[in-house]
Amino acid sequence: MNDSLISLTPYWWEAAPLSESAEHAIPETCDVAIVGAGYTGLSAARVLAAAGLSVHIFDKQRVGEGASSRNGGILSGNLRIGLSAAIRKYGVEVAVALYHEGVAAREYLAATIKDNNIDCDFQMNGRFTGALNLEDFEAMKREADVLNTHIGIGAEAIAKPDLPHATGSTAYSGGLLRPDIGMFHPAKFHRGLLELTEDAGAIVHGETAVKGIRRDDAGFTVETARGRVKAREVVIATNGYTDASDKWLRRRLVPITSRIVVTEEISGNLMNHLMPKRRAMGENRNLYRYYRPTPDGKRILLGSREKPFTSDPRASAGHVRAGLVSIFPELADVAISHSWNGYVAFSREELPCIFKRDGMHYACAYCGSGTVWAHWLGTKVALRILDEADGVSALEGIPKAIPLYEGRPWFLPAAMAWYGLQDRRKERKPR
Ligand SMILES: Cc1cc2nc3c(=O)[nH]c(=O)nc-3n(C[C@H](O)[C@H](O)[C@H](O)COP(=O)(O)OP(=O)(O)OC[C@H]3O[C@@H](n4cnc5c(N)ncnc54)[C@H](O)[C@@H]3O)c2cc1C
Repeated sequence: MNDSLISLTPYWWEAAPLSESAEHAIPETCDVAIVGAGYTGLSAARVLAAAGLSVHIFDKQRVGEGASSRNGGILSGNLRIGLSAAIRKYGVEVAVALYHEGVAAREYLAATIKDNNIDCDFQMNGRFTGALNLEDFEAMKREADVLNTHIGIGAEAIAKPDLPHATGSTAYSGGLLRPDIGMFHPAKFHRGLLELTEDAGAIVHGETAVKGIRRDDAGFTVETARGRVKAREVVIATNGYTDASDKWLRRRLVPITSRIVVTEEISGNLMNHLMPKRRAMGENRNLYRYYRPTPDGKRILLGSREKPFTSDPRASAGHVRAGLVSIFPELADVAISHSWNGYVAFSREELPCIFKRDGMHYACAYCGSGTVWAHWLGTKVALRILDEADGVSALEGIPKAIPLYEGRPWFLPAAMAWYGLQDRRKERKPR
């Protein structure tokens, strides 16, 4: 395979290129300044601007260049912790409230897309998660029962003999089908949300870094690379791209690099065999791997962690591609056309969170599942600023600082190696 032919630009940007940032003047004052123009920042801005507030959003990159136009587009609104484990950890009431919020967040995203006719290849056709061994499949069956009892989402355990209906892979011992999960084209959705936000009256400043924020009597002074603005309220929506301008948040969020590969076009017959339902797929690994067809159904996109101990994107793409071939050996001769990476943010709690601290509003730590949560919690932040009762969330909470950590995740190689070892152990168990 000739790696030099791989494009290192996100596949999604071909159908929805990032637009050049229009240069708007920095105002002296505004009602709300938002740092970060991904789904979180735009979702907050849209609601606030529609309510008549003057809203300015600042992004240090081109608008949308963070995770929100380069993700896998899987709409899970999931929590890292399964419902059974959440019940053990938090008790039934809290765990069920958390999971119900995920349902509401998915429905709200679907409504935003439909009500505003956002053209983003949205489909809600379920996600299959493959079990790496029989013991894991038994646990999935129990989890399906718990999900159906408490959340009523129609989860279905699929035993090995029925797997060919769900996947052409023979790598699994069974799996879990969640019909309430879907997919979209992430960059098209970002573009649609940006249009709605600008139409509502918010001003988006691309390539304008926020260098620092100072609290004063009237609110805040926001220092940007292009000038200073006084704002009554501030929203921090920087998630995995949080930089040293917010040292407090940097000590609480671990940016983890996530890499995606996309294959060249695959024949219709082979696609029908590998992905008969053309739906989102995943595996129950600690080092999570997920895959899906592209919206035209002709290619497969797979996301996973970077290859450890290399900064060479092509070597990392080769590593992720090998993972794809281990799922579908039929793809051994199919080349990769695109590969890129981006940052997701994890907190110690491994839960998305929304909170107010020192007068500023935050929503972050989506732990790799932010397509649904960012839109939901960004909206919640806006409702809080507007003092609306709907601003409450079961995800309220300030993430704890990580000991001996200031933003450079020195512990990740060891943690990844440990999780990789656990996954190999899983693979060796009876199938
Ligand atoms: C490769 C990849 C695959 C993913 N796949 C999925 C998936 O399939 N499903 C899913 O649910 N989630 C997925 N995610 C996660 C999801 O994309 C994110 O959780 C979500 O987009 C976060 O949105 P956001 O608006 O909070 O942050 P972002 O979209 O990352 O935006 C944050 C912005 O803040 C800006 N910023 C940071 N510091 C400053 C500063 N000082 N001044 C100005 N601007 C600043 C950055 O430039 C950035 O644009 C994936 C993420 C990646 C990277």
